[in-house]
Amino acid sequence: MVIAAPSGGGKTAIREKLLKCDRRFRFSITCTTRPMRPGEVNGRDYYFVTAGEFERLRKGGKLLEWARVHGNLYGTPVGPVVKLLEKGLIPVMTIDVKGARSVKKIFPETVTVFLLPPGLKALVRRLKKRREPAANIRIRLETAKKEIKEAAFFEYLVINDKLDLAVRDIREISDIECMKVPRKQAEIRRFSRELSEFTGP
Ligand code: 5GP
Repeated sequence: MVIAAPSGGGKTAIREKLLKCDRRFRFSITCTTRPMRPGEVNGRDYYFVTAGEFERLRKGGKLLEWARVHGNLYGTPVGPVVKLLEKGLIPVMTIDVKGARSVKKIFPETVTVFLLPPGLKALVRRLKKRREPAANIRIRLETAKKEIKEAAFFEYLVINDKLDLAVRDIREISDIECMKVPRKQAEIRRFSRELSEFTGP
């Protein structure tokens, strides 16, 4: 599942709550060349890497997708995503809009969710709370202007007003998606095998 939102849209809070209350979801930790913010932990929030390390990962084909966001490089390591899928878990990627498009192209079964703050006031308040310098806030609002135009690409839109309700929406989306026929092939195969092996009541 890919969750994208304008910066300050509340992706991180949603992700943390989602992971805490539903063990089907696992965070796909991404890497970035952005400097660590106070309170962030390497290997938990991101893998913080140098531009050189990022380049080696990219050239070595280790990234599922990558993008330059607000002047920094961000990328999703492919290995952990594949491992989670193999275990039947749902990798949650909180990435930008361009990254969402790339992931959907490579894994068409990806469920894409666009998260919106309830309004501009809430968005600015969240950005200020992070103590971003005014110039950064301006850059992030400019990016948001471009990103909102991409909302139509996504399959679902969730308004992140109340955290609990937004998390509930995302879990419901996942429940519905899991019931779609293409995701139920194993069950269909099992029943059809049972039918073909049936020798009489
Ligand atoms: P921040 O610096 O605020 O943590 O993240 C800035 C933006 O980069 C956010 O929209 C975030 O979702 C996005 N982002 C984080 N990791 C990745 C990634 O691996 N790939 C892409 N394409 N975007 C990412």
